[in-house]
Amino acid sequence: MAEDDDIDCNRALIELYQFLDGELTIESRERIELHLHGCQHCFASYDFEQELRIVVRSKLETQIPRTLIERISALLESEARTIDQPGQA
Ligand SMILES: [Zn+2]
Repeated sequence: MAEDDDIDCNRALIELYQFLDGELTIESRERIELHLHGCQHCFASYDFEQELRIVVRSKLETQIPRTLIERISALLESEARTIDQPGQA
């Protein structure tokens, strides 16, 4: 396992998320696409993730008002602050 262009499934999945977020360099993109073509497991994940994102995005755009999204993220932030208190393990 010494080939530079070859990546394992874990690495592929990690990069896959970045790929879907549009945060990959062209080089890493090509590496992932290469892996996806040779690996059914990862290809299925890719397909699913991509579809999921499209569905979520279109639902967000059509059904959920922006004010609600803002309220939810504000809620999540205050929730995170509550959880993030010292003394809890
Ligand atoms: Zn794989």
